[in-house]
Parts: sequence; structure tokens; C-alpha cells
Amino acid sequence: MTDLPTILIVDDSRTNIQLLAGCLKKDYQLKIAMNGQRCLELAQASPQPDLILLDVVMPEMDGYEVCKRLKANPLTQHIPIIFVTGRDSDDEEEYGLQLGAVDYITKPIRPAIVTARVYTQIMLKQKSDELRNMALHDQLTQLYNRHFLLEAANQKIAESVRHNNSLSILMMDIDHFKQVNDQFGHQAGDGVLQAVAHVLAQSNRKGDVVARFGGEEFVAIFEHCSIDSAEAKAEMLRDKIEQLMPVGIHVTGSFGVAELRPDEENFEQLLARADEAVYRAKEMGRNRVERAAIDLSCGE
Ligand code: GH3
Ligand code: MG
Ligand code: MG
Repeated sequence: MTDLPTILIVDDSRTNIQLLAGCLKKDYQLKIAMNGQRCLELAQASPQPDLILLDVVMPEMDGYEVCKRLKANPLTQHIPIIFVTGRDSDDEEEYGLQLGAVDYITKPIRPAIVTARVYTQIMLKQKSDELRNMALHDQLTQLYNRHFLLEAANQKIAESVRHNNSLSILMMDIDHFKQVNDQFGHQAGDGVLQAVAHVLAQSNRKGDVVARFGGEEFVAIFEHCSIDSAEAKAEMLRDKIEQLMPVGIHVTGSFGVAELRPDEENFEQLLARADEAVYRAKEMGRNRVERAAIDLSCGE
């Protein structure tokens, strides 16, 4: 694993690739594509490039078409593109920028110019990644925040419905958390939240989303997960948290689990059912897991 930013160089000429690679290989991890199709593939492959240097004139699919497709795909539209081209008319440059490219470098390749322009774009990309990361995570626990959860939930639900997969959610509320703050102070309370969040984050699989939903409330989305598995998982987490003793304090949580109904249920409804299950877990003495009712409206 390397922490160097990744740059994808796209050119049908080996000479140009070698020239560009020569300027950049010391400071970046490089990926190479010799045609547009390969560029589209590599742009999605992990690690995704932080920048694409894109030749305009290529056989089959030209750079403008590649740029259009990258910008039309939500998975690649955030990657900055610099056109590298022998065409140096203003019209061409304007067109490239209109398509969403961030810069335009004209051949012949001058190493100092390439290095400087690439550096600028990589700096901007890192700043925007940082901002995006901050906007989607909770600062205290580093879990995803409510905003990200709601965004991801709709996507995951749509995917599960499309592929006929099961999906379950878990909601957890720390018991008597106000007392923790009152008795041990807000800082200890924060420590408890961090430790509990860590336990929740550790147990998830790839594709699951664990988020801090509110003050001492957490929500997790489990893909390919039936209500039985979600319940077992919640029970395991309940036990772990009970044993945890974060910052020396005994804490417990009340859990609600709900499975997406295949009949077009939306996230709000699923969440409402999980929330009602948490409420019941509280009523029944806390530190326990309850399953959601199939339908809240029929008063089950
Ligand atoms: P219950 O078992 O019924 O859930 O009781 P509770 O005390 O946990 O529930 P309540 O909703 O009354 O209190 C939640 C408390 O969580 C109140 C609030 O001050 C505290 N809280 C919310 N966010 C934070 C935070 O970021 N840090 C700390 N230390 N406390 C927080
Ligand atoms: Mg609460
Ligand atoms: Mg609580």
C-alpha cells in the first residue's frame, strides 16, 4: 500500500506516455491506459485515480468522448481531468473545459509545466476529498453521519430491491446516557460514545454502513442480511457493549432490528419500525434487542 496520489495517464502513443511518466513517476503512483475504453475501466478500479491526464486524439474513442462518459458516471465524475493535446486552438481548449476538464496542457510536453499543473490539481483534489470526508462523517466518533446514512440508504434499498436481496437495519440507543454525563461529566460521555462507536464499526462487513444517527443513537444498514442474522448480530453487539466498560463506566444499549419489506418500503418507514422496536426494548427494561413489527399501522 502506498499513500502516493494516483494518476491515470491516457495516451495512444508510447512516447508520450514515457515522457509524462518520466515527469511524474517520482511523486505519484501511475496507471496507464492506451485507449479510451481502458481509461473508463481504470477510472473505476480501486484505487481510483486522483487525476486523469487525457490525450484528445485517439483512435476509436477520442478524449472528448472519454471525458463526457467519465463526467456522466457518478462513480467517476469527481475525478479531475487535464487534457494533454497537440491541438492548441482556443476553440479546442474552450470545448475541453466546457466538458468539465480542469486544465489543458499542450504538446510538446514541457516537464516543468506538467509537474506544476499536475501538482496544483492534486492539491485541490486532496482538499476537496478532505471536505467531502468531513461532510459525511461525525467528528467525534468518525462514523458516517446522518446525512451520509440517508444518502446511502436509498441507494442500498434500491439495489436490494433490484437484485431481490435481503436488507436489514439496526438501531441502537445508549441506555440512561444522560446519567453518564450527569455523573461523570460530558468528556467521559464523549469517551463512551467513541468506544461504543468503535465496537459498532468493528463488526461490520464490506458494504455495510454504520452511522451516528443522533446524540447517543446509532444506525447500521446490513446488506444481504435477514432479520434473524440482524437480530443475532445485535445480540452479539449488545453483549460486547455490556462487557465493554468504556472509560471505566458500565454502559448498555437498547436495540431494534428491522428487515426491509420487499413491497417497496422506503427507508423512513423501515427506520420508523426499527425506532419503535428500540422504544419497546426500553420499555421492557433496556439492554435488550427487539424485532420490529411487520407493520406499524396494524398495531402489532
Ligand atoms: P434512555 O435510556 O431512555 O435512552 O435515556 P437517555 O438518558 O440515554 O436518553 P436521553 O435522550 O434523555 O438523553 C440523551 C443524552 O445524550 C442527552 C444528551 O446530553 C446526551 N448527548 C447527546 N449528544 C452527546 C454528545 O455528543 N456528547 C455527550 N457527552 N453527550 C451527548
Ligand atoms: Mg436517545
Ligand atoms: Mg439513550
